[in-house]
Amino acid sequence: MERKIESVAVFSGASYGIGDEYGKAAESLGNAIGKRGLTIVYGGGYCGLMGIIAESAGLHGSRIIGVLPEAMNTPDVRLKDVETELMIVPDMHERKSRMYSLSDAFIAAPGGIGTMEELLEIYTWLQLGYHRKNVALYNACGYWDPLISMIAKGTAEGFISESVRDALIIESDPEILLDRLAEDRNPLPVKHG
Ligand code: AMP
Repeated sequence: MERKIESVAVFSGASYGIGDEYGKAAESLGNAIGKRGLTIVYGGGYCGLMGIIAESAGLHGSRIIGVLPEAMNTPDVRLKDVETELMIVPDMHERKSRMYSLSDAFIAAPGGIGTMEELLEIYTWLQLGYHRKNVALYNACGYWDPLISMIAKGTAEGFISESVRDALIIESDPEILLDRLAEDRNPLPVKHG
């Protein structure tokens, strides 16, 4: 059984990372999203990898929804208007809940603290059964390897169940990653504490 995925939220760095490889990987992901005609939901503006992913998706046919908190609606964040639709929201909390409700699945591409926070929040909500949408790590350039090891350690040490560990989709190939976002996965057992 497959799920129908029409929109995908992408969390990613507002920076470019060092070297060209992260930018190329961001472009490949954006291209793949665009070619499938998926709507992309992202943080809005044109910064770092998040801007590259949104722009490449748009160039290949995606509708692009940016969700930007009021305080970030500034010329240095909106260096280019790449969005089909830009939603200005009051704060970060509203941004995240808006991004979550607009999206059928979630991808975390390489990024910093903001990306990690967004990823871990939506992964926590999956663990708690607040949603059943698929969550994926785009492990371009092996960037997420240390986090993957940390999650494995959490399982080995009894803090993260095997089912929660296995619920996170991890792929470095954008096409395989997008195919896997449509997998119909079993709900996680309810976590009581
Ligand atoms: P980071 O990974 O720390 O670079 O933060 C990127 C994530 O935080 C993105 O997924 C955005 O949702 C949000 N974010 C941080 N800085 C910005 C910015 N300048 N413009 C738009 N969103 C941002």
